[in-house]
Amino acid sequence: MAVSGIGAYDPDNIFAKILRGEIPCKKVYENEWALAFNDIGPKAPVHVLIIPKGPYVSFVDFSARASDDEITGFTRAVGHVATTLGLNEPGYRLIGNVGPDSGQEVPHFHVHLLGGHPLGALVS
Ligand code: 5GP
Repeated sequence: MAVSGIGAYDPDNIFAKILRGEIPCKKVYENEWALAFNDIGPKAPVHVLIIPKGPYVSFVDFSARASDDEITGFTRAVGHVATTLGLNEPGYRLIGNVGPDSGQEVPHFHVHLLGGHPLGALVS
């Protein structure tokens, strides 16, 4: 189900449940501000989702409301995961879906980190 990139945060979305420990995940990394875990339906050999711990629907919300500490903590988590998985040199892709045109399914801001093989050109 596509979701809007803005609007009220649904505390029962699936990533909120993962953050509360109500649904299991394969955790890759966690810091004070962010959680990283493997995507349940990987689109590449490495497919990690990184989410802020705060209640943000999408990047629209996160970029407007998150504190400097949250933004820094989240960004550092993304970089840490890529580094520890050895992706910096071969490279990787970060994707953030926002709203219906992107096909965003889960209304909790997240970044997809994809890598582990050549990813090809971005397609529309
Ligand atoms: P979106 O389309 O919202 O950017 O991406 C949502 C992602 O969440 C999809 O890649 C999907 O495979 C993943 N996903 C959906 N439900 C679960 C779940 O319960 N656990 C995990 N680990 N990933 C999920």
